[in-house]
Amino acid sequence: MEVKVFSNILDANDRLAEQNRRKLASHDILALNIIGSPGCGKTTLLERTLDIISKRGRIRAGVIEGDIATSRDAERIRKFGVPVVQINTRGACHLDASMVGSVLDELPLDKIDVLLVENVGNLVCPADFDIGEHAKVLVISVTEGEDKPQKYPLIFRLAKVAVITKTDLLPHLDFDIQKLIADMDSIQKAQARFRLSARTGEGCEAWVEWIEQVRQELAPRR
Ligand code: MG
Ligand code: ZN
Repeated sequence: MEVKVFSNILDANDRLAEQNRRKLASHDILALNIIGSPGCGKTTLLERTLDIISKRGRIRAGVIEGDIATSRDAERIRKFGVPVVQINTRGACHLDASMVGSVLDELPLDKIDVLLVENVGNLVCPADFDIGEHAKVLVISVTEGEDKPQKYPLIFRLAKVAVITKTDLLPHLDFDIQKLIADMDSIQKAQARFRLSARTGEGCEAWVEWIEQVRQELAPRR
């Protein structure tokens, strides 16, 4: 019974996600659903990403900030002068397609090339809920356990791209990044992967180039 109810919820969500996807496509927007544990550095990654995007000047960004209760992350993003809307999930531990669909029109869609959606900090149910994104971006920091791929295989399998963050801390940790990558490979080999420090900026340019490249493939400029 409970399984059936959940599958009906997911079916309804998938239909709304498809509507979001069509709307985003009609505006040539690449949408990235950024998923990771609390504290893995999603907002810091967004800040660095927006900084590099604005300096390179090739694409225009917009942001949706999902948060359970506060608007702190949205405030951190506002200083970059990009369009940002906040979704307060009022306790829900993930974003769903209806929440995202309800705020899309608050964004200037014709002035956005890439929509960066920061999901609620959680590796479990955000994986189940398609929001109409082009790709799920898994963010995992080197301060987390190396056993994350085995514990949360679904998101490791579904994410088209994975960003390993906080690499500047590696000299201070016993974290075995080769083991993490081997475990990630055992779940999904085709994933694009980046290792970076959003704090120092090391490795971040390549990540932004990937975003620009995928946007370009989606909507080649005339
Ligand atoms: Mg955050
Ligand atoms: Zn949830």
